[in-house]
Amino acid sequence: MIDLHCHSTVSDGTDSPTALVDLARAAGLHALAITDHDTLDHVDESVRAGAAVGVRVVPACELSCTTPPGVGTMHLLVYFPAAQGALEDALFALRGGRDERNMQIVERLRETGVDITMADVLRETGDGTVGRPHIAAALVHKGYVDSIDEAFDTWLARGRPAYLERTRLSPGDALRLAHDAGAVTSLAHPGSLDLDDDALDGFVGALVDDGLDALECEYARYTREERDEYRALAGRHGLLPTGGSDYHGAYKPDLRLGVGRGDLDVPDEWLDALEARRPR
Ligand code: AMP
Ligand code: FE
Ligand code: FE
Ligand code: ZN
Repeated sequence: MIDLHCHSTVSDGTDSPTALVDLARAAGLHALAITDHDTLDHVDESVRAGAAVGVRVVPACELSCTTPPGVGTMHLLVYFPAAQGALEDALFALRGGRDERNMQIVERLRETGVDITMADVLRETGDGTVGRPHIAAALVHKGYVDSIDEAFDTWLARGRPAYLERTRLSPGDALRLAHDAGAVTSLAHPGSLDLDDDALDGFVGALVDDGLDALECEYARYTREERDEYRALAGRHGLLPTGGSDYHGAYKPDLRLGVGRGDLDVPDEWLDALEARRPR
């Protein structure tokens, strides 16, 4: 069993990269990909930790992409990227765009009467990518809401009063940067695109034309039926299947590493197939 999607304190998880590797070992996982948002700063620590305890750690990250009107959220999982180069520079720029957007969100919250500062947010962060979950955590700690989900529902989710866009890569640019970095790509949690079956098929087909390699079919929050539908979709487009928990520690308390809500099981062979697909 393996887990190809989770987050550490280097983005919006609550376990350090080393703690995640220890959890993976305790769960009996053979391999782990930490997919922090817009950063690779978790890679060195986690690969070292993995080598020490006998868990294979795959370098990886998760990129947010622009979508056309009427399409929801698109995240791209990037596996085996080289550490230095154009991708790393793009990640650096994306984090800068986040910082600006985070500041605007905090300002917007203050305008609506919420007493919050950037310092409150930074107290919630690790040492990497700062995002909406950290703002949500600050709102919980200041007593404005009872949970992360309530903070999103009240202010931070798309369509809510303190939602603001940030810089993102187009899907084409993200795929090109990833492949140029020697990486293999998987479309994360395809349900978040919010498309019906036909539209999703067309959207995925266009990504395949741009070089998409895989589809995240085994996702902890999806039903068995949904996972089977995504397996069929992947099959129709010649995409490899990937899977993971999207574990974020306390930010998504319903999910456990490796097993999600208890029914996740990603086979080792999926990683072998993914690795075999690496560009030369
Ligand atoms: P950001 O990348 O800063 O825009 O924040 C996006 C992150 O917030 C996602 O990766 C999730 O971890 C989390 N998130 C997004 N929507 C929600 C929601 N409705 N409830 C809880 N967490 C969410
Ligand atoms: Fe996240
Ligand atoms: Fe995601
Ligand atoms: Zn994720």
